[in-house]
Amino acid sequence: MRGDGALEKIIITGVAGFLGYQLAETLLSEGCCILGIDNLSTGRMQNIDKLSVHPNFSFIKHDICSENLFQLKEITDIDQIYHLASPASPKYYQKFPFETIEINTLGTKNMLELSKIHNAKMVYLSTSEVYGDPEIHPQTEDYRGNVNTWGPRACYDEGKRLGEVFCYLYHSLFGVQIKVARIFNTYSAGLRNDDGRVISNFVNQALKGEEITVYGDGSQSRSFCYVDDTIRAIRLMMKNDAANGEIINIGNPNEITVLNLAKLIKELTNSPSDIVFLPLPKDDPKQRRPNIDKAKKILDWEPKVSLDEGLRKTINVYQSSSPN
Ligand code: NAD
Ligand code: UDP
Repeated sequence: MRGDGALEKIIITGVAGFLGYQLAETLLSEGCCILGIDNLSTGRMQNIDKLSVHPNFSFIKHDICSENLFQLKEITDIDQIYHLASPASPKYYQKFPFETIEINTLGTKNMLELSKIHNAKMVYLSTSEVYGDPEIHPQTEDYRGNVNTWGPRACYDEGKRLGEVFCYLYHSLFGVQIKVARIFNTYSAGLRNDDGRVISNFVNQALKGEEITVYGDGSQSRSFCYVDDTIRAIRLMMKNDAANGEIINIGNPNEITVLNLAKLIKELTNSPSDIVFLPLPKDDPKQRRPNIDKAKKILDWEPKVSLDEGLRKTINVYQSSSPN
């Protein structure tokens, strides 16, 4: 609620996507007024249809890289911006590499410009991929990363890194209230079935009795955070003034190898599927785990949902819903 008693007006870019949709649902259930923007490149129209039952939700199908964003009459009196728009699955950012660079650079600059014009607070969703294939473990925010500019992941990694630079410049030169969340792998049900990220692949394969496709020998690790924990963290970042001008890792420090993840999902789904090994994609990071001391200190946040519990919830939803 604003000081004048009106509802806070919040823009969510990427609102048709996996995280944007779930963030919008949470904020709407608490009485916020949401203007969602999405070009539906990797997002799903069915998410917009579900959000549209809320009277306080409105939607613009628009590319946020486009200059005429500033002419849209719907964009008035904005209090907050959650900037999530960007492909996030390696499958999709490698399919749309130029668009991925543009959304994270030009798109981020446009949203920062809107924040400046409206004096709105902004949270930018960056990624653990800015650390590339990390040489220090776990990763702290001051680690500068090990990113290959000459490879298939560079469009995303370097796009996000430059997105962070735009945030730094708008904060330091113009005083824009910007907070950068470096999100580590987040999961739950709700991804497109063809999204290609590991948990949706493994759960779909296990439930259909298909081969579970481990890339490489499966010794590479990731640290998976359940979506509710991630959304709680980014909301705390928006609310907390101490996060202004800060970069904060958001993730679950519980690390697991991809092979052990495959075995765990096979066990939890009681699946007859075989685990098979396919070539490891180029530049696939070997390890990833967040140091979340900064999030604990500034936001008083840490994840609450264990991998076992989060996977059970995810599997239950996949089992009870029809394929999409
Ligand atoms: P997603 O692909 O499901 O959603 C992204 C949304 O952005 C889609 O709805 C897509 O249509 C929209 N979009 C893309 N380009 C756009 C443009 N030019 N204009 C307007 N809309 C556009 O991805 P997600 O998993 O929901 O990720 C959301 C954000 O979180 C991304 O910025 C991603 O980099 C970041 N992130 C996610 C994870 C994760 O594990 N989910 C991890 C790290 C970072
Ligand atoms: N992966 C896998 N099988 C799959 C999909 C992904 O073994 O069907 C691996 C992938 O090579 C990576 C990890 O799982 O090591 C996480 O991949 P994802 O695409 O979910 O996200 P990333 O962390 O690589 O961005």
